[in-house]
Amino acid sequence: MATFTRQVEDMARAHRMDLVGFAPVERFAHAPRMVRPEAHLPNARTVIAMAIRYPSAMFEHAGRAPAENMFSMEVYQNHVIGQALYIAAMRVARFLEDAGHDAIPMCVSGRWRVYPYKDINTDWMADFSNRHAAVAAGLGEFGMHALCITPQYGMRQRFITVITSAPLDPTPMYAGPALCDRCMKCFKECPVKAINPRRMETVVIGDRTFTYATIDHFRCAWSEQTNMIPEEGPAFFGQTARFEPPPGRINDQQLLEAFYKKCAAAGFQTGTHAMGRCMGVCIPPHLRGTQKEVAPMAPLEGHRPR
Ligand code: SF4
Repeated sequence: MATFTRQVEDMARAHRMDLVGFAPVERFAHAPRMVRPEAHLPNARTVIAMAIRYPSAMFEHAGRAPAENMFSMEVYQNHVIGQALYIAAMRVARFLEDAGHDAIPMCVSGRWRVYPYKDINTDWMADFSNRHAAVAAGLGEFGMHALCITPQYGMRQRFITVITSAPLDPTPMYAGPALCDRCMKCFKECPVKAINPRRMETVVIGDRTFTYATIDHFRCAWSEQTNMIPEEGPAFFGQTARFEPPPGRINDQQLLEAFYKKCAAAGFQTGTHAMGRCMGVCIPPHLRGTQKEVAPMAPLEGHRPR
């Protein structure tokens, strides 16, 4: 299988994937039943995790004066990079299929079951987790913020996955220096306090155990999905409407009420883009001095509110 595994990797890299790893399905044995690879493909043997990196200057200059541009981040993060991932996953899946294996290209992150569903007892859960697959396939490890940090790019990549019946050669799980040193910047700078390090979660993947903070996903959605905190991005579209999340655990009614008020206040500029501070400030120890933090979003000086 070594040659065939290499051919699959070459196919992914030919479609601009910067990181590629292979996880045998046994590494997902502790995952909830409905989100295991075999729940999607009963004869699954391997999960292929792939990632494409962000253009670094685009990431670091998001929102910087004088341009205060968030349009590139919005379009490349959500559309162009997403499309590149989908095309690569589709081509890899077809390559596997043409070689006689089953293969399902999965979805880029950003689609969730918002409410607990059947035996999935958590909210905002994807039907398959690309970040857990990336860790299982040796691409990196979890930070305090529960996201996958890679040694090559830190936080500056997006992931996608292909589940296949092909028994491909496994990539070893990441075993290098810690990529998260618990600097707690992600926690301190999150404007909606979505990261709760007082309640840590534990996951077992392969032969490794990881811990990360519990994430309040409705609180995260307060900014990232519904754009109610201007300095995470909407300010650069001219949005001055700001709605603070209430203390404690947020429910969907509180989120919806605030969202409708924000839409009324922001008018046509309501469709904006927010980049989580956890993404912008998290730089793994060995990349500090190489990668720069995304600057805190500028105040709305000189802007005439609607
Ligand atoms: S910002 Fe610091 S604590 Fe948070 S995930 Fe990154 S390295 Fe870990």
